[in-house]
Amino acid sequence: MDILTRTDEPSAHLERARADYAALRARGLALDLTRGKPSGAQLDLSAGLLRLPAGHHLTRDGQDTRNYAGDRGLPELREIFAPLLQVPVDQLLAAGNSSLALMHDCLVQALLDGVPGGPGRWLEQDRPVFLCPAPGFDRHFALCERFGISMTAVPMTDEGPDMDVVERLAAADPAVKGIWCVPKYSNPEGVTYSDRTVHRLARMRTAAPDFRIFWDDAYAVHHLTEEHVEVAGILDACAEHGSADRALVFGSTSKITHAGAGVAFFGASPANVEWKLAYDRGRSIGPDKINQLRHAQFLKSPDGVLAHMARHRALLRPRFETVQRLLEEELGGTGLAQWTRPRGGYFVTLRVPRGCAKEVVRHCAEAGVLLTPAGAAHPYGDDPDDSLIRIAPSYADVEDLAQAVRAVTVCVRLVGYGRQLQD
Ligand code: PLP
Repeated sequence: MDILTRTDEPSAHLERARADYAALRARGLALDLTRGKPSGAQLDLSAGLLRLPAGHHLTRDGQDTRNYAGDRGLPELREIFAPLLQVPVDQLLAAGNSSLALMHDCLVQALLDGVPGGPGRWLEQDRPVFLCPAPGFDRHFALCERFGISMTAVPMTDEGPDMDVVERLAAADPAVKGIWCVPKYSNPEGVTYSDRTVHRLARMRTAAPDFRIFWDDAYAVHHLTEEHVEVAGILDACAEHGSADRALVFGSTSKITHAGAGVAFFGASPANVEWKLAYDRGRSIGPDKINQLRHAQFLKSPDGVLAHMARHRALLRPRFETVQRLLEEELGGTGLAQWTRPRGGYFVTLRVPRGCAKEVVRHCAEAGVLLTPAGAAHPYGDDPDDSLIRIAPSYADVEDLAQAVRAVTVCVRLVGYGRQLQD
């Protein structure tokens, strides 16, 4: 810890930071805080899944899950997730193992076929543009890049994207076809949208008649406190404001049961659900119903999901508390950093002085601590302020996490005080 006082010269702080960094490098750490993955202990919480469906293969209504049939997914599983994702059960599909793959498919389908209510294929219209609240989820932005969809960054506020900017851009240009939204405990800042934001998104005028909100509710039940933060339902809000087809809702059990081996969900208006099913039917004869059955058996009910998430919380909370404690101890009062205190989700975002994030991440890597590349949370990997660093506390054990966060703070002091002396 830096034991110098704030009144000491920056050169004294820098000298101390240099000595700490040399000591850090000498330790030869090999730690990885890059991705928000569940820890082994979190995966063990769902070990029971591996013993299911325990010889059963019939659904509640007698359908044989081992055979083709049923393209909407098992009703008993959709009933569990419908209230959690705020989607009526008959408008919710259980499909595949990855919500990101569903978002990918929806983009492809919109490009190739267009969407209900639209003038045609997105491919044949002006180069489509997506609004990208930033910082945001790097893989959303990677999908846009992959499909040649232009990205326009929109600043985030503490109640969601800056809606004055969103409304202006969406109303001005019919090429603006959509927006990425992570409405609860967003990746990476942990922001939860206010009800006002939800209603403005549903109500706003869009120049494109086929505008779509990609509502990625990845952290719908991923609370880090006893308070279960709620957000107004986007489908209800859209129906109320006469834009029923505007929102596509995505979710999955990736960070509830087994990451990449769970079940993903798609919810939307009846017209959008039929649109999605038309594509799915051409792509596959049906989802993996055996995995859906074991998930329904294991999770049992919406309350069963919430009880399961409380067990995740017990494992995650000490990790997030460790991050907060160390950031406060090592960087509090230095004026070199601010950070988020998320109430849910998987990340802490550290804001360092402008122009320093890449250098901090590089120094960390050279000391054996891998972080998500600086800029990854912005469209085209470009953080215009070069100031955001994403910390993913879930995967490492608490001791490794503490070492990694301490290392980050050393690098912030090294780069930050160095910059102060240059300025
Ligand atoms: N959406 C967000 C916002 C995420 O943070 C993640 C994973 O980190 C995903 C989607 C991926 O979900 P899935 O495993 O269902 O594809």
